[in-house]
Amino acid sequence: MPVYKAPVADMRFFLEKVLDLPAYAHLPVFANVAGDTLEAILTEGALLCEEVLFPLNKSGDDEGCTRHADGSVTTPAGFKAAFQTYREGGWMAMNAPEAYGGMDMPHILGTALEEYRMAANQAFSMYPGLTMGAVAAILATGSEEQKSLYVPRMISGEWAGTMNLTEPHCGTDLGLIRTRAEPQADGSYAISGTKIFISGGDQDLTDNIIHLVLAKTPGAPESSKGISLFIVPKFLVNADGSLGARNGVSCGSIEHKMGIRANATCVLNYDGATGYLVGEENKGLAGMFVMMNAARLGVGAQGLSQGEVAYQNGVAYALDRRQGRALTGPADPAQKADAIFVHPDVRRMLLDMKARVEGLRALIAKLAFHNDRATVAQHGGGVSRVDPTRTTVLPSHPRHDATPVGCRVDLASSSVTARRVAPVSRARESTAFGSTAPSSEARRT
Ligand SMILES: Cc1cc2nc3c(=O)[nH]c(=O)nc-3n(C[C@H](O)[C@H](O)[C@H](O)COP(=O)(O)OP(=O)(O)OC[C@H]3O[C@@H](n4cnc5c(N)ncnc54)[C@H](O)[C@@H]3O)c2cc1C
Repeated sequence: MPVYKAPVADMRFFLEKVLDLPAYAHLPVFANVAGDTLEAILTEGALLCEEVLFPLNKSGDDEGCTRHADGSVTTPAGFKAAFQTYREGGWMAMNAPEAYGGMDMPHILGTALEEYRMAANQAFSMYPGLTMGAVAAILATGSEEQKSLYVPRMISGEWAGTMNLTEPHCGTDLGLIRTRAEPQADGSYAISGTKIFISGGDQDLTDNIIHLVLAKTPGAPESSKGISLFIVPKFLVNADGSLGARNGVSCGSIEHKMGIRANATCVLNYDGATGYLVGEENKGLAGMFVMMNAARLGVGAQGLSQGEVAYQNGVAYALDRRQGRALTGPADPAQKADAIFVHPDVRRMLLDMKARVEGLRALIAKLAFHNDRATVAQHGGGVSRVDPTRTTVLPSHPRHDATPVGCRVDLASSSVTARRVAPVSRARESTAFGSTAPSSEARRT
């Protein structure tokens, strides 16, 4: 029986004791995640992932998505209700801009919850993950009209988003794509071609799907310099946001694969589907890279989340499975053998996993932290200077900036001085390897 408990106390320890997040509460981006709010968001997000998403992980993978004769796709039992719970809780909107209905929470918090969501149910996680990647691309390169028409409905989870690059004959080398975009009299384009491996290419979770599609216009250079980006909605959208006719895009088949079967990997056929240019013609790859980079960061978080789940289940197995006796004598004399957890080499392997997972979590959280501070810097949050040791723009701050390796950079002085600092107190949760946690309430794993 698989287990998963979101490591809330681990994340709090890293955010509060290592990154010293409370010291940045004066910066707008971190203002609303101090103290109790941080705890509440992490705890509520953890519960959602543990109690709603995780129970659907195995059943969803066993059942998989189903493509019907009319090309429509249904997700496994429970996914629709779980998605409804997810969007009603406002989780889609967490990191999105307030101007479009989002909550403007820092990325560092979104990254924490992304780990929990992916660990609990990777297949589910890809629906909101890709949607928010598409939102980022539209916000970066779309027109004001496109932003206000599509983004609020995607942020609310009413509509989803997909990324369409890969074709039957090419994936990495996008300069070879054959999907065509023919200009129409009304300013739209007729999109024709086939895309494969499209995650969440069709599903029954949302009322509409906004496909972001790479295609070539007539006469475009035969290389990656001739690629344009288009919005192709599953259902056409009227000016007031209401849904119109079904567009000419359909799911031809679903890939058979091992794992994440609850996320349909679709062949999508575009048969003169109506598409709308995003950004400039022949410059679509730059816009798509916004989404691809979001996906790349997501894949890093995916590695972390699967590592955490593997570690937790490794510990559970080692505490349950029996073989031999502890070197120091029977640890469980009432049984014929001790749990394999007592053996030094088993503990070494588990500790190795734990160390790697925590290191990866720290790396990802630190990246998100830099991203948030760069945002502050860009939007007038008080940039003081460029820190040459970390090649990132730092906001001014009267105190210190602790790095995970224990160095301090004195931001108040004009020069950067790095020195060892005393270890931060290890106020963290209990694990199978023991704990110095201050209270049992703080323990989650
Ligand atoms: C589960 C799943 C979900 C996916 N979801 C999406 C999606 O939502 N949208 C989408 O557009 N695509 C999606 N993809 C496709 C994915 O993005 C492509 O598989 C990826 O872009 C690589 O393309 P390819 O498989 O055609 O590899 P190819 O380009 O055929 O390359 C094959 C192999 O050769 C290697 N290779 C290629 N060129 C070089 C080189 N110059 N030097 C060294 N090695 C090289 C590659 O690394 C790879 O190992 C998905 C794939 C999977 C498996």
